[in-house]
Amino acid sequence: MLPKSTLDTWIQDYYEYRRRGYITPKDRAKKWKSLLPKLKKKFEAAGITRCEVCRGAFALGFAHRYKRRFITTMEELETVALLCVGCHEQVEHSGRENMYERITEIIERRSVDMQF
Ligand SMILES: [Zn+2]
Repeated sequence: MLPKSTLDTWIQDYYEYRRRGYITPKDRAKKWKSLLPKLKKKFEAAGITRCEVCRGAFALGFAHRYKRRFITTMEELETVALLCVGCHEQVEHSGRENMYERITEIIERRSVDMQF
């Protein structure tokens, strides 16, 4: 049996983790699925309906600053740029740091404020 203090700490840590909006890998897919229609509406309302890099409209999707498996907060999950499949792949294959910088740059350059 584990010492009580350790278990108490675990529980506290867990609630702290949840309170701060951290998400577990298991939650991530579910959260993303429910977030997606909200993001789509938000982008449409802001008039962003084309690729934010090339203005193309083919196979659009949301691109994160990190590969999704490294995302652990709701804030990061909600931080996206709308990219076509070609631009998305290009950004994803440019390396982890480049990907972060590139998506951040796209978001900062927007004329509309997309913060939640
Ligand atoms: Zn594009």
